[in-house]
Amino acid sequence: MTSTDHPFGRTTTTLDELHGCVDVTDAKRVLNSIGVAKPDKAVEGFLDQMPTLLAWLDEHGRDYPWRRASDPWQIYASEILLQRTRSDAVADIYPEFFAQFPSARCLLEADEEDLRSIVHPLGFVNHRVRTLREAAELCAEVQDEVPADLEALQQPWRVGPYTARACLLFAFDQPMALVDTNTARIVGRVFDYPLPEQPHKSTRVQRLLDALAPDNPALARAFNLALLDLGALVCTSENPNCPACPLAEGCEYAQTGDV
Ligand code: SF4
Repeated sequence: MTSTDHPFGRTTTTLDELHGCVDVTDAKRVLNSIGVAKPDKAVEGFLDQMPTLLAWLDEHGRDYPWRRASDPWQIYASEILLQRTRSDAVADIYPEFFAQFPSARCLLEADEEDLRSIVHPLGFVNHRVRTLREAAELCAEVQDEVPADLEALQQPWRVGPYTARACLLFAFDQPMALVDTNTARIVGRVFDYPLPEQPHKSTRVQRLLDALAPDNPALARAFNLALLDLGALVCTSENPNCPACPLAEGCEYAQTGDV
């Protein structure tokens, strides 16, 4: 049983519970190391807003079919389909894709032209077909099972830490943080964190988000989905909608920025 009983995981918590499962000390240490002002206040302020963030997810989160999936192959393959692609486009082909390729073995045995035709609307067809076939080969090696291993999951061509971590989090209930440009942008604004050029590749940003992610599978799932959806719907790159944001009270950008 995974935390997919609810597509968002668990969206209710208390400050007391969060203090028991968030690595507040390490989050403060990371912020301190890059010279963020008052890291203690910043982390406590973020923690204060986390129950509101999860409640926001419950009301506004996007209910995609892969968020209801519990089968590791469906989750792993979905994350590959989502690479550099709009979620709505993946949702459009999702039913047909998994009707045709319900397992890694089915994908390997299928005619490659069928695979190409189904993923065609997503673009990057050569890239995607190669990655999906290598992922299916990886799973077929171990009797059609997706390996629950961060390194192994990254063996297929162009599968990086984000996809591997998403698979571990959503398919195997391993609490951890997902860092992409959206989630990095949120922490950059909330903490007035001077983000590096490629924040999604920064080990320090990863460490900060790992420290903030609750060490509890259902809460970690909700935490990550909340940040992903907040980055897509509210804290957008151009026009963040701070008045509608559940993090506004603890957000440095909202408190000091021109919003
Ligand atoms: S308050 Fe504004 S800047 Fe801060 S996280 Fe929310 S939308 Fe982004």
